[in-house]
Amino acid sequence: MFSLISLPYAPDALEPVISQETIEFHHGKHLQTYVDNLNKLIAGTEFESMPLEEIVCKSQGGIFLAQGHDYFNNAGQILNHNLYFTQFKAVTGDGVQVTANAPTGALLDAINRDFGSFEAFKAEFEQKGVTLFGSGWVWLAADKDGKLVITQESNANNPITKGLKPLMTMDVWEHAYYIDYRNRRAAHLQALWQIINWEEISRRFKE
Ligand code: MN
Repeated sequence: MFSLISLPYAPDALEPVISQETIEFHHGKHLQTYVDNLNKLIAGTEFESMPLEEIVCKSQGGIFLAQGHDYFNNAGQILNHNLYFTQFKAVTGDGVQVTANAPTGALLDAINRDFGSFEAFKAEFEQKGVTLFGSGWVWLAADKDGKLVITQESNANNPITKGLKPLMTMDVWEHAYYIDYRNRRAAHLQALWQIINWEEISRRFKE
């Protein structure tokens, strides 16, 4: 049985970047539905005692295609949202901290090495988020040698299925931004840099 993950901040802590209303729908309703669906699906199956990562990797393709990807889609969406909701921190001060909020240490070194600069990384990440057609996720991920890549994943997919370690993500399903930004996906992605908790992303990178 899986449980709805707890938020490491108050539901209004990410305002004005993400409103309390969006958090309540996105975490309290969308994510809760994926958790409820997966728990019903896995009861009494081989997946019942597996970690999420293993369900996602083992339920791709094959016979599971014939089952409408239900295991994969629900487990993938839980994994994706758990990583998403735990990567943010409260907006501090006047909310104008875009340039101040940046990675440091080994993660910054890797970003500079693999993308040229933090600014170039952010530009490529936003561009990949804006150009992802339909619903999905854009990810910062690391390969087994620690090389960083940005991947576009449709629907419930996660770079873990490509053997990559997921580090940071932006959800480009409309439910992530429609209440606050309507159809302005680019404006939403640009605003999210203010609330990325780079200490948490560094922790995942070193793990
Ligand atoms: Mn979502």
